[in-house]
Amino acid sequence: MKTLRELYKIGKGPSSSHTMGPERACKVFKEKTKDANFYKAILYKSLARTGKGHGTDRVIVQTFEPVKTEVVFNYDTPEDVTHPNTMDLIAYKDGVELLRTRVESVGGGNIKIDGELALSTPSMYPENSFAEINQFCKWRRLSLVEYVEMNEGVEIWDFLIDVWQHMKQSIIEGIRNTGTLPGGLHVERKAQILYNSINDDDTDVMHELKMVSAYAYAVAEQNADNGTIVTAPTCGASGVVPAVLMYFQKKYDLDDRRIAEALAVGGIFGNLIRRNASISGAECGCQAEIGTATSMAAAAACELMGYSIDECEYAAEIAMEHSLGLTCDPIRGLVQIPCIERNAVAATRALDACHLSHILVGTRNISFDMVVRTMYETGINMSQAFRETSEGGLAKYYSRNKRDK
Ligand code: SF4
Repeated sequence: MKTLRELYKIGKGPSSSHTMGPERACKVFKEKTKDANFYKAILYKSLARTGKGHGTDRVIVQTFEPVKTEVVFNYDTPEDVTHPNTMDLIAYKDGVELLRTRVESVGGGNIKIDGELALSTPSMYPENSFAEINQFCKWRRLSLVEYVEMNEGVEIWDFLIDVWQHMKQSIIEGIRNTGTLPGGLHVERKAQILYNSINDDDTDVMHELKMVSAYAYAVAEQNADNGTIVTAPTCGASGVVPAVLMYFQKKYDLDDRRIAEALAVGGIFGNLIRRNASISGAECGCQAEIGTATSMAAAAACELMGYSIDECEYAAEIAMEHSLGLTCDPIRGLVQIPCIERNAVAATRALDACHLSHILVGTRNISFDMVVRTMYETGINMSQAFRETSEGGLAKYYSRNKRDK
């Protein structure tokens, strides 16, 4: 399993696959083609169908600047294009082709360049399933926090505390900002409305719902507005983990180091899904993005409650089990509807999964590894219309309704 540094990436939204990954690919390509005076980028499949809404063309043009770039949205799928987020980059010098390369944006801002190994750090953990991790920790009498430190070194805490500072900042800015999000859907920001609605007469349940939702909306709205967020595990699902952690930090007056430990525990589950299935909505639907974020947040919440390794696993499993089949159907390819609200709903579901795991631990039948396998199989068998192409679900019916009016 890879380092947690591969999972939590600080960058600009709205999409890790559609903006962070292509930006990274263009930077690498630009470095190799310093003589180029013209670039062409050809986008295929999900990158072509929702690239406009996600701002893929904008980020490509900006990255190659000052060199002029043409971005082509190719809606036909050549036979040799297999990954849902594929792009060809071509560099020219005075009309002569210098270099051409194919890149796959494989989720969470990570890329795979044709003929090269995926651009990422080497494996850092010998264990590749939760069953292995659980067995190892019990044998060595380690907590999950100690397990992460043993593999990543003590430096991981500075990294995770920095990640937490950026998550907190996105919450603060998201609650402060008001107005309409860009893209033409006229979606109003709602984080501040939710936050300001909190009052002393609220029941405990209502208070928790308002706080957690306000934080989740805040980050998801920042993401939709091209703000700086942390992938957890992706941009589209970046509000779930921070919302739960901020709620716990305030409720229990926890210091940042403790939150970093929760990020480490949640990160184990996110990284396992990334390794053994997918965190890409274009590959496996929203279950791979929001489902993963919910698992991570549920496990992180268990860590903060002082629950056992088995309870962490159970919570992460519940969270994913009840995200199975969740489709990716962003209207007009914008990471707004259903994405923003979905972050809030997922954050509250993560808390439910945390509490349920504590009450029911010892009764479970499904392992985390099993539900991850199930998610992947469900995802790759899902119709293409529900995998970030904006051709099905809400994206399809919203357009029809608009046309009917
Ligand atoms: S529907 Fe889910 S997977 Fe699709 S763009 Fe929105 S948050 Fe990402």
